[in-house]
Amino acid sequence: MTQLITTLGPKRADELAMILPHEHIFVDLRTPDQPGYAEAEAADVIRLMEPELRRAQAVGVTALVDCAPIGVGRRADILLAVSIAAGMPVVVPTGIYREPWVPDWAYSASESDLSTWMLGELQGTISGTPVQAGFVKLSAGDDSLTMCETKILRAAGHAAAQVGAAIGSHTIRGRVVRDQLDILESVGFPSSRFIWIHASADPDFELNLEMARRGAWIEYDWIGDPSTDALFLDRIQRMLDAGFGNQILLSHDRGWFDPAKPGGGIPKPYTYISEQFLPKLAAAGIHDAIIQSLIADNPFRAFAR
Ligand SMILES: [Zn+2]
Repeated sequence: MTQLITTLGPKRADELAMILPHEHIFVDLRTPDQPGYAEAEAADVIRLMEPELRRAQAVGVTALVDCAPIGVGRRADILLAVSIAAGMPVVVPTGIYREPWVPDWAYSASESDLSTWMLGELQGTISGTPVQAGFVKLSAGDDSLTMCETKILRAAGHAAAQVGAAIGSHTIRGRVVRDQLDILESVGFPSSRFIWIHASADPDFELNLEMARRGAWIEYDWIGDPSTDALFLDRIQRMLDAGFGNQILLSHDRGWFDPAKPGGGIPKPYTYISEQFLPKLAAAGIHDAIIQSLIADNPFRAFAR
């Protein structure tokens, strides 16, 4: 039986309903060498983000995937504290973001060192916390992978394949995803466990289809602005028509407490999909059973192991 690995322990499918597969509770987009990087008091993050998680629960969200790996301020201790305060299970990644957010230690680490580190977090816990990593989050340069990004990707493939975990990557261009899948397949990682994050960023929908044919998940995770709803509806409809309804993920890529801003800034809510977007899917003639699979079954299958 597969389970979703969360801050509140492993969860079975029958314990969950709607899952948001790409959101953020805490992010620092400054590079790790900046003063004050990723620093905050858990109580301050709870004060700002617990109400957002409660608002999400009120519109049906039962779990949320936080997509900030090493490089953009991952703080598993803070995610745990917020998660407990709100009673919301949160999936926390291992992995490293792209250059120039890669920390110095990762440049000097070998592929096998990186793989051992990720495997340790996927099987055990994230250093200094009781939180087990639920998946691997990576990224790639917009036009190509650097040598270091390639090393991290290969290491992730080895580690994730051993435990059957998913790898999600922030990748803007489909041709870079093509390279990523080639590399992952060469180290024995199945494309069916790969999540193409920000798949709508590539204007060429054919590339979404090409990666779906290879088995990858296609994540439409910038939903939240009425002016782009038609674009997402169109892509979802075309994916469904092509028979890939069981490989689509929907999310907002929103939140979050930003330690670079006074008081953490002003978070954006996690409620748009429930309140605004799902009614539009229904109005477009997409059956409720399909909508339920898009928001509940799909994210569970994508991340559970
Ligand atoms: Zn994101």
